[in-house]
Amino acid sequence: MTSQSFMPEALGAGEPGTLAALLTCFAAFGGLKTGGVTRLCASAADGAARDAFATLLRDAGAHVVTDAVGNQFGVFTLTDAADAPLVMMGSHLDSQPRGGRFDGVLGVLAAFEAGRRLMLAKRAGASFNANFCAVNWTNEEGARFRPSLLGSGTFTGKIAVADALASIDDDGVTLGAALAAIGHDGVDAPPPVPACYVEMHVEQGGLLEAESVPVGVVTRNWGAAKMDVRFTGEQAHTGPAKMHARRDALFAAAQLICDVRAIADEWPERIHTSVGRLVVQPNSPNVVPAQTDLSVELRAVDDAILREAEARILACIDAAAKRANVGVQILSRTSRPIRELPPAVGNLVRTCARAAGVQSRDIDTISGHDALSLLDVCPTGLMFVPSVGGIAHNENEETHGEDLDTGMTVLMGAAYRLCVSRGDPVAAAAWEPRR
Ligand SMILES: [Zn+2]
Repeated sequence: MTSQSFMPEALGAGEPGTLAALLTCFAAFGGLKTGGVTRLCASAADGAARDAFATLLRDAGAHVVTDAVGNQFGVFTLTDAADAPLVMMGSHLDSQPRGGRFDGVLGVLAAFEAGRRLMLAKRAGASFNANFCAVNWTNEEGARFRPSLLGSGTFTGKIAVADALASIDDDGVTLGAALAAIGHDGVDAPPPVPACYVEMHVEQGGLLEAESVPVGVVTRNWGAAKMDVRFTGEQAHTGPAKMHARRDALFAAAQLICDVRAIADEWPERIHTSVGRLVVQPNSPNVVPAQTDLSVELRAVDDAILREAEARILACIDAAAKRANVGVQILSRTSRPIRELPPAVGNLVRTCARAAGVQSRDIDTISGHDALSLLDVCPTGLMFVPSVGGIAHNENEETHGEDLDTGMTVLMGAAYRLCVSRGDPVAAAAWEPRR
């Protein structure tokens, strides 16, 4: 039996509902009554999900590798060739507080399912010339530890392992300590850089649903700039302390929040801005706040807009500090440039959608994804499935079962084609079953 007798479409058909069933199982880890999840990175719930993922992988014949920052890799050995390249797919198991049950976990479980089916095909006699890896990246969300995309950024060398492990949550717990507490502080060397990486994710916007298109092929990402800002004032009694003498850190924060919002109104639909995190010290009704920490985020469709908005926000930070008579520090600043994703991988996803008889459309990603980290080191693809109502980072996040099946079929096609094409996306797109 040759590999050509295993057509990707046949593999992709799989069992309808398999992915939905897996997602239902994983929604129990950190599960909320509403159907959403709170599964912060390296929490007990995340530990349980990681354990379940490792068990699934081992049962399906994969070798599980956990690196120093807790990235989990399930390597399916599909060929004995010593120089065989690796095809990697995955996403993240961590979630936002009160987040959805699809964000991230969808891409991890779809990658697992692809690996499982490829392994079955191999055992049935199919031959491959690449190995396959399903990955769970640590702390994609940036909800508990910052920055976001921490695990994938460490894998690509953008973030040093020591810096990642020293990252602290709002209680002062380091990522290293949190991973050790759940038994996922790995000691394994991560696998090599893959020949190709493909991630499936929920769109988190409403475009695909509005146009009834089941697959989005991401061709570029919006730029992002993030900063953590700290205003330092002086603690005082809210009663007797003279108004002119107050150094109110929350007053400064309030102005900055309004300024950040106002900037979005200057370029409607072109820039999205927010302050999503505010920590007030000591946070007591009758104490003038001594310190506030804020996380400011900007995302723009255009680099020039992003740069101008960033410059303006820096000026607003200084103005807010001056008006409230407080000190200010920028604790961290990160940015993500606008980039195009490699056309060859996008073309492969489009080809797989066509082969599955479904429509696809090109789309931008406004949110960050691990795929954007991998873009630094290998040909990378990102595909979206529809989000009902565009609802994301919310307990009511939903993707219809038929869209999950379609996404799985398309991803499976890409996984199969890549694993018979040495991970080369051009050859994979050109691959044709022998009739
Ligand atoms: Zn995600």
